[in-house]
Amino acid sequence: MRLIPRLLELQEAHGHLTDDLMLQVAQEANVPLYRIQGLVSFYPHFRTQAPQKTEIAVCRDMACWLKEPLATSRVREHHAGNPDVHVRECSCLGRCDRAPATLVNEVPMTIDAACGVPGAAEIRSENPSYRGITLSYRWRCDPYPAEPERYGVLREALKIPRGAFSDRVVSALKDSGLRGMGGAGFPTGTKWELVRKEARTPKYVICNADESEPGTFKDREILASLSHLVIEGMILGAMAVGASKAILFIRHEYEPERKAFESELHRAQGLAGRAGVEIEIFVSPGGYILGEETALLECLEDKRGEPRNKPPFPGTHGLHGQPTLINNVETLAMVPTIVSRGADWWKAQGRSGFAGLKVMAVSGHVAYPGVYEIPVGTTVRELIRRAGGITGRNLLAFLPGGASSNFLPVSAADTPLDFAAMAKAGSMLGSGALFVVAEGTDMLALATNIVRFFRYESCGKCVPCRVGSQKAVELLDEVQAGKKERRVLHVLPDLGETLTLTSICGLGQVALNPVLSVMKNWWDFQR
Ligand code: SF4
Repeated sequence: MRLIPRLLELQEAHGHLTDDLMLQVAQEANVPLYRIQGLVSFYPHFRTQAPQKTEIAVCRDMACWLKEPLATSRVREHHAGNPDVHVRECSCLGRCDRAPATLVNEVPMTIDAACGVPGAAEIRSENPSYRGITLSYRWRCDPYPAEPERYGVLREALKIPRGAFSDRVVSALKDSGLRGMGGAGFPTGTKWELVRKEARTPKYVICNADESEPGTFKDREILASLSHLVIEGMILGAMAVGASKAILFIRHEYEPERKAFESELHRAQGLAGRAGVEIEIFVSPGGYILGEETALLECLEDKRGEPRNKPPFPGTHGLHGQPTLINNVETLAMVPTIVSRGADWWKAQGRSGFAGLKVMAVSGHVAYPGVYEIPVGTTVRELIRRAGGITGRNLLAFLPGGASSNFLPVSAADTPLDFAAMAKAGSMLGSGALFVVAEGTDMLALATNIVRFFRYESCGKCVPCRVGSQKAVELLDEVQAGKKERRVLHVLPDLGETLTLTSICGLGQVALNPVLSVMKNWWDFQR
């Protein structure tokens, strides 16, 4: 029996997980009760207390904080005295384009809707006014002009011997130079080839749809608009590496997008069957750390989502110790177009000597936050212009790759959005999330908000990450409250280096980057 899906099912049916329900699961699965309690206490989506009639979660992270620092207070004040409503803060909901974002009984809502403002509505993924891309937008990365033409690459693949198809796909991906779009940027063709070469079976393909980093929400839009490409990419991946099972691992806050994927999957089921690939949807029980590929694997294996030591890497020792191909949503969605139109077409989509297309989430101080498909090589300044420009004031700073990238100053605004170019400029393209900050923003307070996010989301496995992130937040809070002099922040570069050298996973390794880049660029911490 699968423990986490069973616990989610019981919570859905009963509202929360009582001691009796946890005991029931332990008995059904014939495992010790502490194993169940360990899961329930680790994952933030599990509840052991009965919820109120209305549960409101208000995002406290970067984009929402920038838009309205006291958003939670506003919602609390509105519902003050109502015993049926419980308001709490939560980590990033992946809806930074509608900051401040809220969930009301798990349904994405604008803050006005959460406060009962007449006319304010539920956020629906099919609502074009919510999406940066309107329904009439024609995605360049979608090779199918009309619905009946979808899955054309897969239909062709089913006509040729599997080995020849596999050779063709891997070499097209390698020639295209496509890199993983989840943050690490590992060459996709090389990864596929590595899993393909493994002789052991069974093998697995996992689509990582657990994007949870503040500022990052482009995979959400791709799932809503281009589910057919994600599904086709997953099936092609399974065929190319020799897997018969593919899993969509999706965060529970993306329920509208899960439904969009599921409904498209019904249409593709026949083709998946002909390809010999079974596709499962696994709903994540929460936590930013599950976006880390080995934490995700632990979760799929019904364990606490703590990252594994690497090596070995998932390509050779992944799910249940078997060879596993893990790519994020955007990476898999780009595969059909690269295979059908060819690597040369893909490379020609870039600009100024850069190759390919990129989907970017844009949030912060811009007129039209949302999701934008751009040629790689587009500069930060150009993308800000496309998003309607800075709201009110001038550009002060930006994060090009989500909360874990380094802040860059306005002088870097002509840097092309590309992995190598951003690394050269001192930051990274990361998860493809451009976060824009206008003049007048308290950069140290903003960076503290980000470090606090990483402290909340640290899984606690490594002492330097668990204790170091807490120590950094305490120091930053005390300095900003005037209880300590700025000079105490002298320790942060050393602390950051310790975290980088001693943390198992990327969270601890980058947790202090935002504040260190702020200190470097804007703030004389010796005063
Ligand atoms: Fe967990 Fe932090 Fe260690 Fe990553 S670095 S495994 S988040 S404690």
